[in-house]
Amino acid sequence: MLKGKAAIVTGSTSGIGLGIARSLAGAGADILLNGFGEPDAIEALRADLAAEFGVRVAYDGADMSDPGQVRAMVDGCAARFGSVDVIVNNAGIQHTASVEEFPTDRWDAVIAINLSAVFHGTAAAIPHMRRAGWGRIINIASAHGLVASVNKSAYVAAKHGVVGLTKVTALELSGTDITCNAICPGWVLTPLVQKQIDALAAREGIAEPEARLRLLSEKQPSGQFTTPEQLGGVALFLCSPAADNIRGVSLPVDGGWTAQ
Ligand code: NAD
Repeated sequence: MLKGKAAIVTGSTSGIGLGIARSLAGAGADILLNGFGEPDAIEALRADLAAEFGVRVAYDGADMSDPGQVRAMVDGCAARFGSVDVIVNNAGIQHTASVEEFPTDRWDAVIAINLSAVFHGTAAAIPHMRRAGWGRIINIASAHGLVASVNKSAYVAAKHGVVGLTKVTALELSGTDITCNAICPGWVLTPLVQKQIDALAAREGIAEPEARLRLLSEKQPSGQFTTPEQLGGVALFLCSPAADNIRGVSLPVDGGWTAQ
């Protein structure tokens, strides 16, 4: 379905981004990986993905907290692959503290990476998509783009911002074949969430499996984590012709979290 198209997935050296990159590569897209990690591990990831799916895979280590690097990464994808057909704005970080104790530098970092990078990546990708006459902008928001939790002010503000930005982008592109939508995962067992499980276990003096269950049962009625593979499938669906007229939605994949 995506043969001959090029997809950027930000924050794809780990977790959800990697699951989505694998899914798009499986559909034939050339992939620009992005994210942090050990250079050798990233190179192994890049080479394995290319070999497994028979697509071109490149890596750009742009720091999503730097607008210039975000925009240069997008233009670099077009220079390398000839187009930017899909951008999945996925990179994200978390920091937990009450509003009154939230460190300013952590607020700035969460807003820069989780929200502003989505704006810069989108703005840089649109001209390439207009030239091609087709495009898919997929923003990875969160259940926290739709509802709040305590101690996550920056994350919740950023993700609500992504939901709003998704709607504006979709409206501005409504007369074109470029769509913009957001996916709102609930809990997905990735390094980002494992840190929160470990912190809960330490804080409550409980074992890790119990902390996992408690985290899930607080929010996610299905009692199951969403997987990166499932989110890859949802991203692929948003790239399909069936989704041509899905515009500006924020699709929860959250085990019922936001249905409550
Ligand atoms: P993760 O920690 O496994 O992966 C995050 C990725 O972003 C990594 O590749 C990391 O290197 C990259 N990254 C971090 N800072 C970066 C920067 N400054 N520049 C470039 N890359 C950077 O996290 P994840 O759980 O896979 O999260 C991915 C996205 O999904 C995030 O936007 C997160 O908010 C969102 N999300 C996660 C969950 C969950 O339960 N895990 C739920 C809802 C939404």
